[in-house]
Amino acid sequence: MNRTLITSAIPYINGIKHLGNLVGSQLPADLYARYRRARGDEVMFICATDEHGTPAELAAAKAGLPVAEYCAQMHEVQQDLSDRFRLSFDYFGRSSSPQNHKLTQHLAGKLAEAGLIEEVVEKQVYSHADGRFLPDRYIEGTCPNCGYENARGDQCEECTKQLEPTDLINPRSAISGSTDLEVRETRHLYLRQSRLRDRLRDWITSKTDWPVLTTSIALKWLDDGDGLRDRGITRDLDWGIPVQFEGAPWQGMEGKVFYVWFDAPIEYIAATAEWAEVNGKSDSDWERWWKTEKGAENVRYVQFMGKDNVPFHTLSFPATLMGSGEDWKLVDYIKSFNYLNYDGGQFSTSQGRGVFMDQALELLPADYWRWWLLSHAPENSDAEFTWENFQQSVNKDLADVLGNFVSRVTKFCRAKFGEQVPAGGSYGPQEEALIGELEQHLAAYQAHMDAIEIRKAARELRAIWVAGNEYLQKAAPWSAYKDDPERAAVIIRLALNLIRLYAVLSAPFIPDAAEAMLAAMHSDDKSWPDDLRAALQVLAPGHAFEVPEVLFAKISDENREAWQARFAGGRDA
Ligand SMILES: [Zn+2]
Repeated sequence: MNRTLITSAIPYINGIKHLGNLVGSQLPADLYARYRRARGDEVMFICATDEHGTPAELAAAKAGLPVAEYCAQMHEVQQDLSDRFRLSFDYFGRSSSPQNHKLTQHLAGKLAEAGLIEEVVEKQVYSHADGRFLPDRYIEGTCPNCGYENARGDQCEECTKQLEPTDLINPRSAISGSTDLEVRETRHLYLRQSRLRDRLRDWITSKTDWPVLTTSIALKWLDDGDGLRDRGITRDLDWGIPVQFEGAPWQGMEGKVFYVWFDAPIEYIAATAEWAEVNGKSDSDWERWWKTEKGAENVRYVQFMGKDNVPFHTLSFPATLMGSGEDWKLVDYIKSFNYLNYDGGQFSTSQGRGVFMDQALELLPADYWRWWLLSHAPENSDAEFTWENFQQSVNKDLADVLGNFVSRVTKFCRAKFGEQVPAGGSYGPQEEALIGELEQHLAAYQAHMDAIEIRKAARELRAIWVAGNEYLQKAAPWSAYKDDPERAAVIIRLALNLIRLYAVLSAPFIPDAAEAMLAAMHSDDKSWPDDLRAALQVLAPGHAFEVPEVLFAKISDENREAWQARFAGGRDA
């Protein structure tokens, strides 16, 4: 049995994510997890909330809650939204878990043993107005690389260059806006990832099948300026994983915590350990996914993330795992995404611009959003959400093509043959042509899903739906019924079987509609159509079914305009 480990970049804890975040990692990861399960793999699909760092502290202060309590509450909110979007995580963990504390401290200790941790007296920016050291991302200024005026002290979002705060031109506090900043000395631990540069290069260049977006970003950082820079892995903060050796003091590091970028990817592993604990399993049950000497050499590990996360996942996190000298499983394939824009601008959490996960579900069920987002995933370039495009895609693809097929077939059958699969007749040239066409589309669909080419896969799935409609139109059972009821029976028998087939093939994209279609067909046979001809005979003559509720309602112009207006401004605070 194939074993596939899938992780989605972990969403930050402070607030509800927008649809651009969703399509940049969690949703495509879910699509792939559902597909691999449908193909018979043993899958471990992991995500978590990323809970450490200053933004969590500030958000908690704003909410008037202790930070631990704030994180616990927001984790529940994000868990609930994940469930309602049908994100089928095997476990949705928390980076503040005891497992992550232990593992992060353990890995830092191993890196220190290997001579890959250096203690550095660092100059850090202190803000008089804010009364605290400012973490890198809370210093803003102009990017020295591209001139973007709102670059953060850790990374420029515009050109993705990783920065140090002192690189910024005209720096200011992102908390207060104050420019009364002072550089002070403080001691920090650095991960000497530059020492692993050759190993990282060999590893990255061996990944010839990676998307160009992933590899080009990785190599850019590897060779940026003087080459891969060592990175600080600790911070002067209260909230986080204490810098200790699994509980024992780390001299000179009292009162400091690990920097969030160091502990966040380690949470992929820790969350799998959380999964084991919650489900009453042993350590070996999670280790077989992550330790090559305990079974993970047979695992294929695929990561999903937005392009801004690529440097951490191609360089820093692998450096942590390689540098530990232990047998940790490294990623086999990284699927990265460009950005989804919103109606002529960017989605923005800070400005509340765009549609957020909770708002989306107030308007329409998850499948509507899943279909649009996945079929327009920002794979090879940035993509844009517009209400017109969303309306058109829902109305055409989901309502006219798929929904209408299911409705016409089931209603016609009920009217002429009753609510059971009709007997009689046998395939003619039209049926043979349809099966040939479907076999081609199915092969292409599988190839695109295997390669995680999501837009192409969506196009093939749609073509599979269209083929059924066109067949029905040409075969015209309503005409055939008048002179030759057996001819109408074979057409409808095939069409009812197509509904079950569509449910199985569409489930990774639109799981709720797929369930409704299977329920209407009174079938729980979700087996993948390895033999298409056989799959089209699963529902035998006499098999009962029922006419389902409307699968997809069309979006009216009035609704579209109202939603467009409602979301034109920022989100209410
Ligand atoms: Zn820049």
